[in-house]
Amino acid sequence: MPEISQRAQSLGTENAFVVLAEVNDLIRQGRDIVSFCIGQPDFPAPDNVQEAAIKAIREGKHGYTPSAGIDPLREAAAKYMAGMRGGLPIRPQDVVVGAGAKPFIAYAILSATDHGAGHEVIYPNPGFPIYESQILACGAKPVPIHLHEAKDFAFDIQDLEKSLNRNTRLLILNYPHNPTGGLLSRADLEKIASVLKKHPQVWVYADEIYSRLCYAGEFFSIAQVPGMYERTIIADGASKTWAMTGWRIGFASNPLLAPAFTRWITNTESCASQISQWAAVEAINGSQQPAEDMRKSFLTRRDFIFGLLNQVPGVSCKLPGGAFYAWPNITEACRMIGAKDSEEFRKRLLNEAGVAVLADIHFGSRVPGEGQHLRFSYAASKEQIEAGVARMADFIRKNTRKAA
Ligand code: PMP
Repeated sequence: MPEISQRAQSLGTENAFVVLAEVNDLIRQGRDIVSFCIGQPDFPAPDNVQEAAIKAIREGKHGYTPSAGIDPLREAAAKYMAGMRGGLPIRPQDVVVGAGAKPFIAYAILSATDHGAGHEVIYPNPGFPIYESQILACGAKPVPIHLHEAKDFAFDIQDLEKSLNRNTRLLILNYPHNPTGGLLSRADLEKIASVLKKHPQVWVYADEIYSRLCYAGEFFSIAQVPGMYERTIIADGASKTWAMTGWRIGFASNPLLAPAFTRWITNTESCASQISQWAAVEAINGSQQPAEDMRKSFLTRRDFIFGLLNQVPGVSCKLPGGAFYAWPNITEACRMIGAKDSEEFRKRLLNEAGVAVLADIHFGSRVPGEGQHLRFSYAASKEQIEAGVARMADFIRKNTRKAA
């Protein structure tokens, strides 16, 4: 028999999809589950975006597009990304459109590192699991940098200094952050930029897919720090801002790497769906009211879940600064019910209380000394949030009594 490569066998995954399969199984068995698993807005794409897609279909826009995307979308995305980031000089030719922002994670690693050359990539831990799996699959060395609850889920600048060396080729940053909802402040970003001055061979991948869901004032990109623009790949997209996850439109910008990204796309997907590209033009250029309304709704729910989680026995939660994730610390709750860790807690919460969440280990190895955490995606209705957190509180109370 032919064999499956080591690369394919060891490829990581997004455990949100694995847990979702577990949840769907339970639902098929007739169980009532409140799910906080999946990281996507619980809204349909705005009406004007849907109409633009239908129009594109009716007008026969069915063919391949240039690999970098249709000109109107590159123009719209360049203007949009620049406008969101203090007027950076982003030109349409610096922007490449892909089938979501996700493929650019691999394209950036592939464009910044060589396989087996000892090149290193620094990435946040906990973090979006695709960073680590792609670093490994691309044959580079993963160097996790720990995020700390006491620093509102930023990392220690000394840790960054220690992690950088002449083999480092790429630093991945993500804020607002999945899974913690944490932000990097302007002061943090300026410190990072100052450290990077001593390492001019390092690119930065700024995963800014949640840039419109930043609740602590105006979004600020590391690309805006003097000296950082040319070496920063800015990744953003339509998935979260306009509730278009299944439409698969992302965009990345960098003046030097855009041609390389375009070639990667020619070698993989050819181009993003033309229909979705026209829809994304409307998403960016049309009314921003739907996006603003969704943002307001996430902010209301952020405050709601934050308040509720902090009333649950044995649970404490930092106020998430952005995205639609809460990352409560459940170290004490684990102790109270006799669960050895967050993963055991998560499984019991799902099977015994019908509440589906992800555990910290789905986002990388647990950071030593940081305790146990869960991820709640609060892109769920107010009623679901209320019911889900109440079930969790009951679950802890009931099992604490048993253990006592
Ligand atoms: N980066 C992060 C941090 C994400 O959370 C996600 C989606 N969950 C993506 C990238 C990918 O988004 P897209 O749908 O644009 O591929």
